[in-house]
Amino acid sequence: MKAALVREKNDGFVDLVDDWEPRKLAFGDALVDVEYCGLCHTDLHCASGDFGDPNTMGTRNGSWRRVIGHEGVGIVSKLGEGADQYLKVGDRVSIAWFYDACGVCDYCVSGNETFCRKVRNSGYTVDGAMAQQVVVNAKYAVKVPSDLDPAAASSITCAGVTMYKALKVGETKPGQWVSVHGAGGLGNLAVQYAHNVFGAHVVAIDGNPDKLEAAKENGADIIVNRKTEDVVAKVNKLTGGVHNAQVTAVNDAAFSQAVNVLRPLGKLVAVALPQGDMALNIAKTVLDGIEVRGSLVGTRADLKEAFQFGAEGKVTPIVEKVDLKDINDVIEEMKEGKITGRKVFDFTHM
Ligand SMILES: [Zn+2]
Ligand SMILES: [Zn+2]
Repeated sequence: MKAALVREKNDGFVDLVDDWEPRKLAFGDALVDVEYCGLCHTDLHCASGDFGDPNTMGTRNGSWRRVIGHEGVGIVSKLGEGADQYLKVGDRVSIAWFYDACGVCDYCVSGNETFCRKVRNSGYTVDGAMAQQVVVNAKYAVKVPSDLDPAAASSITCAGVTMYKALKVGETKPGQWVSVHGAGGLGNLAVQYAHNVFGAHVVAIDGNPDKLEAAKENGADIIVNRKTEDVVAKVNKLTGGVHNAQVTAVNDAAFSQAVNVLRPLGKLVAVALPQGDMALNIAKTVLDGIEVRGSLVGTRADLKEAFQFGAEGKVTPIVEKVDLKDINDVIEEMKEGKITGRKVFDFTHM
């Protein structure tokens, strides 16, 4: 089987191999033949060892090296014992960053399963979907609606559900203003969910004119080029301050701009994962009653909802199908911030 493995030296790139084999199915497992898998910034963090070396942590399989990928969609081809309670052969399912969890802790039983202390993450602590086959925990693999394009679904599996959830965390309401800082793979979907699902008005901020143009086409009411315009002045002037600011950009300036475009009682929702600390104006935070909230992917219920909005045509991820052999070039492009939407690796022609 072809698979993309984290390098021993964690240099941010991957090695492609032809002879990888998924582990044997345990109780409750299902085997999935991958159709599409997108590449996400979190994969770059994993391959760079930013969260620790994925080759040395989590569940060990046949290979000692970790398969990346958590924006996977594929077809169930085999069921382990007990898995038929949840899935059947032929079902289309997703392989998300949230792989599985303990199911019994305070977080799991309160609808906050992604914060389980025993959570496993695809492509990080368990093998991910950037391979021809992947083993899933059948209870945790969310089904993809039949009327949703599988390549588009791969993008909702991570980027889409992440922004759908982050807009919930920001308590987005119809008619409110939402600012989206960074209009890339996450940001473009944030614009669509905010505008088309939550009924909010949207400001999109980025330094790349192509990404801003795409944001405008997808429903942004206002676009701001952070390289040529004063973000804080323009957003405050045109909106009177936003109700919630969604930070999807990996540059530090985006976080301080986000704080400074909020209206009183506004909420900053941190989604991107730049390394380091966030500067926060204490006076503004206190005097304006600002809240800062982190948001991490979404639960199975969130993903089911996010898929359904995709199936209804309210959200259409921008995806370009690419060949697995080009993955290291795509990693390079992503590092340089050149990708609008998502590049999705096509496993259907192998
Ligand atoms: Zn992701
Ligand atoms: Zn748990």
